[in-house]
Amino acid sequence: MTTVCDECTVGLANDDWSHLDYHHEADEADEVMTRITAMLEILGWLVPVGDADEPGYFDCGVCGEIQCGGGHLWKGLSDDEG
Ligand SMILES: [Zn+2]
Repeated sequence: MTTVCDECTVGLANDDWSHLDYHHEADEADEVMTRITAMLEILGWLVPVGDADEPGYFDCGVCGEIQCGGGHLWKGLSDDEG
């Protein structure tokens, strides 16, 4: 199971990451997008599971940024194995 931040949940749900431009400077947005694309290649297809139970601080499994507060759980194909 992967815990994902609000921004990345919107991106995953809509397959649209243009909102990153509103949250980051242009250069930074490119950098974040590169990181996210690389991570998604590793994670593969993700499906939403629901909100995480009070995760507190967590590293977003997609953008890798440290987040505080509610996260969203996403399940990858590898979670079904074993
Ligand atoms: Zn994120």
